[in-house]
Amino acid sequence: MSIQVYVDGKWYPKDEAKVSVFDHGFLYGDGIFEGIRAYGGRVFRLTEHLDRLYDSAKAIWLEIPLSWKEMEEVVLETLRRSDLRDAYIRLVVSRGKGDLGLDPRKCPRPTVVCIADAISLYPEEVYTKGMRVISVSTRRNPADTLSPQVKSLNYLTSISAKISAVTLGYPEVVMLNKEGYVCEGTGDNIFIVKKGRVITPPVHLGILPGITRAAVMEYARELGYPVEEATFTLYDLYTADECFLTGTAAEIVPVVECDARKIGSGEPGPVTWRLIETFRERTTVEGTPI
Ligand code: PMP
Repeated sequence: MSIQVYVDGKWYPKDEAKVSVFDHGFLYGDGIFEGIRAYGGRVFRLTEHLDRLYDSAKAIWLEIPLSWKEMEEVVLETLRRSDLRDAYIRLVVSRGKGDLGLDPRKCPRPTVVCIADAISLYPEEVYTKGMRVISVSTRRNPADTLSPQVKSLNYLTSISAKISAVTLGYPEVVMLNKEGYVCEGTGDNIFIVKKGRVITPPVHLGILPGITRAAVMEYARELGYPVEEATFTLYDLYTADECFLTGTAAEIVPVVECDARKIGSGEPGPVTWRLIETFRERTTVEGTPI
């Protein structure tokens, strides 16, 4: 497998791609990123991912040194230079090289990195049998701190929650906000299905507005299911008919147990399966061709 990594205008073999230890992305997590997938040589929802990247940049006063169109070309060219047709693409823009102080004015040029590689997030069996999850004490950071809408390089909230989960033998968690409403997983959005309604938490609770979440809401409406963005608690999750997670890396993962409560029948449910099927069909035809 040939992996070519774009760093600031040039492509390098994987082991030769380097950024400075004085980069504020490394020193402070000062930067933003996107995770994007390609299916059969087509990049899924690239426009939406690039729009979110530029919005994240704006929120942290980061001036991306490439135009939207140039960035699109970086993603497509990185894929062309790899021999992958199904790929996970990581696009990173950090504040760039500065000094050891916090002041971003000391970083004259943001660093841009694009990597196309493979990713596998969860064990294969969770996609057929469903996943067991737990809720954790780590709260999703409130929208009036660093907004969870910013896909920032600082993933310590998710990483803390992930450590709690894997230490206890679970692959994924449900994070709540400080009011106790269900928000999302460490790298995935969450949905429940109750009496045929497909429900997902609203963005203002403190979640990343996932691109897969938006696609799944669209597909669910097309299939005729009422879709709602509504607040819900762990009680609603425990007593739901179905539950699933969505994310670029995760795709759609059925959830069959939370905090030792079986969800619905304890097996992936029919609405989840229909959405997985639709997602599989659409991802191979919808995307931007490389
Ligand atoms: N929430 C968080 C915290 C994430 O990191 C991700 C992955 N980007 C998601 C949700 C899912 O978003 P998307 O569908 O755009 O990958």
